[in-house]
Amino acid sequence: MMPDADVPGHLSSIRLPLIAGNWKMHLTNEQAKAYLGRFLPALNELTRGQGGSTKRRTADVVLCPAFTALRTVIELTLDSPVRVGAQNVHQDPEGAFTGEVSVPMLVELGVSSVILGHSERRQHFSETDGALQRKVPAVLEAGLMPILCVGETEDEREAGETERKLRQQVQVDLAQVEDGLLPFVVIAYEPIWAIGTGKTATPEQAQEAIAFVRALVQGFDKEAGNQVRILYGGSCTPDNAGQFVALPDIDGSLVGGASLKAESFAAIVEAARG
Ligand code: PEP
Repeated sequence: MMPDADVPGHLSSIRLPLIAGNWKMHLTNEQAKAYLGRFLPALNELTRGQGGSTKRRTADVVLCPAFTALRTVIELTLDSPVRVGAQNVHQDPEGAFTGEVSVPMLVELGVSSVILGHSERRQHFSETDGALQRKVPAVLEAGLMPILCVGETEDEREAGETERKLRQQVQVDLAQVEDGLLPFVVIAYEPIWAIGTGKTATPEQAQEAIAFVRALVQGFDKEAGNQVRILYGGSCTPDNAGQFVALPDIDGSLVGGASLKAESFAAIVEAARG
């Protein structure tokens, strides 16, 4: 099934920079409202601050709140360029899966994207590549954009196992995606040792790993590999985000901690616009 260009979830596949904020288990509805009260004006200010400059790139912006704040954030961002993503979803459309949420439930709410395979879900909630192999196509076929997270632990990097780990995750997790839908996948390379640690990958490490991930997608389909957006994630801040998005294979950032402060997330979006 080819995605419908009018389906809002399918953001650009032409490698427009994408900045996604993962709020994790933070921000209640009330806190989300207060956040948007600061973030949306800050984002507006940045756009206006371009002073009619048509030279600046635009960037896609996605906020991923907890399930409980999705409706609030969707309603309050309707008239803005911000899209809203979930942080997880079940692979089946319905069933006896207590505590889970399905793709149709997210579609009905107006969600545009879903983070899949975050290392915290793999580590604390036993998320497997087998489940992700079903989740990625389920999300795509519903017209939503998956943001698939991959990355190695510090021990794996030190043991020279980074490429083996990335190959395993990318090849298994994307195995059931129809060729026509591959360009609409977003991949976030998130070295686990850089998440929430304040320790970022160097630009060279990030570019090398992301070029490797792109080559893996090209192995499925050359053109899709050229088109797919690949983000860096791991302790991004307003001070370091610009250096990643400037690199040839890096198309934006997945941001955890620094997305919780409206002003710092707006500054990261600004950095991505070059
Ligand atoms: C994340 O959890 O996806 C992440 C990148 O977190 P942080 O920016 O806090 O390292």
